[in-house]
Amino acid sequence: PVPVVAVVGRPNVGKSTLVNRIIGRRQAVVEDTPGVTRDRVPYDANWSGRQFTVVDTGGWEPDAKDRAAAIAAQAEAAVATADVVLFVVDSTVGATDVDEAAVKMLRRSAKPVLLVANKADNQAIELESAGLWSLGLGQPYPVSALHGRGSGDLLDAVLEAL
Ligand code: GDP
Ligand code: MG
Repeated sequence: PVPVVAVVGRPNVGKSTLVNRIIGRRQAVVEDTPGVTRDRVPYDANWSGRQFTVVDTGGWEPDAKDRAAAIAAQAEAAVATADVVLFVVDSTVGATDVDEAAVKMLRRSAKPVLLVANKADNQAIELESAGLWSLGLGQPYPVSALHGRGSGDLLDAVLEAL
């Protein structure tokens, strides 16, 4: 079976932009308004000749109600069915309480997790992203999903984790 990589994180951190970067097409819907991706959306991806499925999810929020809770449930379901999880944070914001709550959910899942420090558009932000070691998920991978910076290194790490 083709391995599955799930992309989770708060709304607006750039999950869908990262998915588009990984698949090399603008297919996942990127929005300035949070909460646009409601379901789990799978896409075929390929890196260095390895095929995998990358799953975009809506923004995960703890203690969410109604529609937001349904989105969070989809994200948790995506984690449950994934072989590797990409946990995306906004490195221009740093780790928030919501990010820390998500880390607890990820720990419970016991899945391999790679921490993506997205929006690291330049070297200054990239250096700041080292502060994300505090999340306890190991090395943060600084990436600019928008410009492509760091995405090759991230994908190499994904293949190693699969
Ligand atoms: P999602 O809600 O996590 O799926 O986030 P989106 O992919 O829809 O992106 C939310 C906003 O962040 C959009 O305006 C994107 O253009 C922007 N964005 C995503 N990745 C980056 C990045 O690497 N750098 C910058 N500067 N903006 C980004
Ligand atoms: Mg999205």
